[in-house]
Amino acid sequence: MTTTLHTEWTVGDICKGFLYDKNEDKGLFGLGGKLIIQPEYQRNYIYGDGKKDVAVVDSLLKGYPLGLIYFVKNADGMYEVLDGQQRITSFARFVNMSWKFPVVRNGKTHYFNSLSPDEQKKITESPLTIYVCEGEPSEIQEWFETINIAGVPLVRQELRNASYHGSFVTLARARFSNTGNANMTRWKTYVRGDPKRQAVLETALDWVSGGDIDGYMALHRHDGDIEGLTRHFDAVIDWIDAVFEYTGKEVCGLDWGRLYRAYHGKAYNREDVARRVEQLLGDPQVTDARGIFEYILGGEQDTKLLNIRVFDDRTKKAVWQAQTNAAKAANKSNCPLCALESGNNARRLYKFGEMDADHVTAWSRGGMTDASNCQMLCKTHNRAKGNR
Ligand SMILES: [Zn+2]
Repeated sequence: MTTTLHTEWTVGDICKGFLYDKNEDKGLFGLGGKLIIQPEYQRNYIYGDGKKDVAVVDSLLKGYPLGLIYFVKNADGMYEVLDGQQRITSFARFVNMSWKFPVVRNGKTHYFNSLSPDEQKKITESPLTIYVCEGEPSEIQEWFETINIAGVPLVRQELRNASYHGSFVTLARARFSNTGNANMTRWKTYVRGDPKRQAVLETALDWVSGGDIDGYMALHRHDGDIEGLTRHFDAVIDWIDAVFEYTGKEVCGLDWGRLYRAYHGKAYNREDVARRVEQLLGDPQVTDARGIFEYILGGEQDTKLLNIRVFDDRTKKAVWQAQTNAAKAANKSNCPLCALESGNNARRLYKFGEMDADHVTAWSRGGMTDASNCQMLCKTHNRAKGNR
């Protein structure tokens, strides 16, 4: 990848041929048509609040630098704004669409047209500091990930959309990044994050690609449809819906793509599942409610997913003390399993730190996490028991 520093372009140069799309709230073109200001992967214009946009113009009037701006140069010779589109759209709206917003100068409200010629020149002749980068998508993305961009940093998927911009990204964004989409509420039950910051699109891509989002985007970059992506995403959502009645906050953001791959071939009874979800959610010993769903999908084998409550230190110490006192009196080991053996350890007294707490009756068989169900075992026996 090559990077070239440009300092010859002024605000006036960028404003030449500025085109603004009212319907989409986007700055479209500048630099005499050579610059795409708001490429499809960028956020819409959010500076038009009468504060941030005014601050940009104020900076220019005061001669402050606007900060670094980044363009990407495409193979066809066009430039695209990678970072700086909010600042560019702000000053270009002020200069080219003077009625849009005023600034206050010396206590008076001014639109661009009512500023003195000197002040107008000060703005349009302000130099800009622009880096133009050219290279492979992966190179540009990597570079952007390593530099620290001022302002609102692009999130990872925004960077990917930039790197692999094309027909696929346009279509995918229209479906998955559009908060007006009627399905969005249902999707957001299971998918975490802001669709406008590309969280839903990123999840959909993650699911369909099995984690290789870049590979998938590179492969499909110039596709004329997003059918594979849409079909897979809908299949996962429909599957979750078919298995789980429960739609509380715990299901949001789970690794559903992986769970779908692992379990969508298995049959589940939605009512039974709903009953178990409710039971487990109400079980005070289950400390990881988000693990419940995978636990059920896997046939209720892996209790580690539930992070069953552990014994606190006070309970453990009390039990260790009681076991040790009894063991001394009986001249046996304080590990009840060692005490049953005939070897060297049958009379060994373990220190507190050499033992771990164990549920006498396992949680899955109804055992509680309290002193009455706690025994201290030597680490070897505890491990052996845990692995059964
Ligand atoms: Zn033992």
